[in-house]
Amino acid sequence: MKMSRLMNETVREAPSVTEVKGHELLLRAGFVRQVAAGVFSYLHLGQRALQKLEAIMRQEMDALGGQEIKMPLVHPAALWQASGRWYEIDAELGRLVDRNGRSLTLALSHEETLAELARQEIRSYRQLPQLAYHIQTKWRDDPRPRAGLIRSREFTMLDSYSLDADDAGLAAQYQAHYDAYFRIFARCGLPVLAVEADVGMMGGTQADEFMYLTPIGEDTLLLCDGCGYRANRQVATFRKPETGGDTQAMQFVAELVVGEEKLERVVTAVLAHHSQLNETKLVHLLDAQRLRPTADQATDLWLVDDGVTGWSGQVDKVADIAAAQDGDACTSCGQPLRTVRAVEVANIFKLGTRYSRTMGVTFVDAHGVAQPIVMGSYGIGVTRLLACLAEQHHDAAGLVWPVAIAPYQVHLLALRGGLETAVSLYNDLQQAGIDVLFDDREERPGVKFNDADLIGLPLRLTLSQRSLAAGGVEVKIRGDGETAVVPLNDLLNHVTAWLAEQ
Ligand SMILES: [Zn+2]
Repeated sequence: MKMSRLMNETVREAPSVTEVKGHELLLRAGFVRQVAAGVFSYLHLGQRALQKLEAIMRQEMDALGGQEIKMPLVHPAALWQASGRWYEIDAELGRLVDRNGRSLTLALSHEETLAELARQEIRSYRQLPQLAYHIQTKWRDDPRPRAGLIRSREFTMLDSYSLDADDAGLAAQYQAHYDAYFRIFARCGLPVLAVEADVGMMGGTQADEFMYLTPIGEDTLLLCDGCGYRANRQVATFRKPETGGDTQAMQFVAELVVGEEKLERVVTAVLAHHSQLNETKLVHLLDAQRLRPTADQATDLWLVDDGVTGWSGQVDKVADIAAAQDGDACTSCGQPLRTVRAVEVANIFKLGTRYSRTMGVTFVDAHGVAQPIVMGSYGIGVTRLLACLAEQHHDAAGLVWPVAIAPYQVHLLALRGGLETAVSLYNDLQQAGIDVLFDDREERPGVKFNDADLIGLPLRLTLSQRSLAAGGVEVKIRGDGETAVVPLNDLLNHVTAWLAEQ
């Protein structure tokens, strides 16, 4: 690609105020542009980088035996009503009405759509197991989009769905994804940690999140250096200390969703004096309550944390509803837990029969008996991953892309006296299968060098009267700044060999 043909230029200052360095660089280097709050256009360089990420993901999913499909962005509301999520999820779910007055949703994930496909296509145990994946746009109407692509409203995900006859099959596909995700992140150049996680709005029985540790992250993780325990704060457990019986009570009104109805109930949470309430744990307790509603919904509900001693007031349920904090003791080994900030880049869920039971997705087993299909769902935020990679791979001058995901492998610069040779080198490199961004613009050398550093392609090749006089092409590695002059007739071999080593 010739830079003179690109629609956008680099910019010295970020177009919008941003507190996240990686996002600022993606804006300045011309990878993305904001269209609305949490909604972005991907310019050519950004789109190229996304394609590289997606290619790695396709390879790894194909290696698991996955079949690539594509499900729509727009779903009939009836599917989401069947699973119950139409009622369970609030304003985050995009809803619209078509010209015939039919309710539709914008995909927030695709469990329902896949379950409906399975309901139509799968008859017999002989058709199981199955694994289907797609790379598709999602819409989640986040009330606080921030940090660019890290927390956007429209985003791209790789999501896959496993169908099995039993829990053992699900466990195998879950483990296969767990391992494949580590390979994907390693190939992209993003260090991640897998932690125990909340099943959240997907539902199900087990979830792990893949976390990129960074101070800009909004998730808090609890890590134990003693035994390796790792969990999102939403689910982290800890050994409750002895308390002197001092307690605090928090009262609020909870909305309980029962089918299409919403009921209000006054809930009081009782915690040890020094504890913090864990809202996720509390919500799960209330969900469990929903399944066995009491006769009189107006009665107050008293939930008491299991770390509280000496409580003599009303008790409807004793459970863990406290949030683990830095320094709390690990449940397993007693060592102090420490907290770190992180961005969630992927998650995997054992859905079990949560969707197949509610949506009637069954298969006939070897004994001729209809059974619910056992499902798993797995997802990586592709656009969020791009943002995390920009955060991980940059320096003061700009982005520093690993070869595997760089939009182009080589940045070719033509300076005074070097244009003619550069044009022929551009053709040679492309014929050799090397991705080249060619700075053919009529700009000062300083502008071209600054732009090359900002865009951050792995190898910079400079052709000028001076480099030719010195014996050939100046080759600079963006990562460590190492520079050498390579003779023209040796350049293709040099570049090919260097790329192969990465
Ligand atoms: Zn521990």
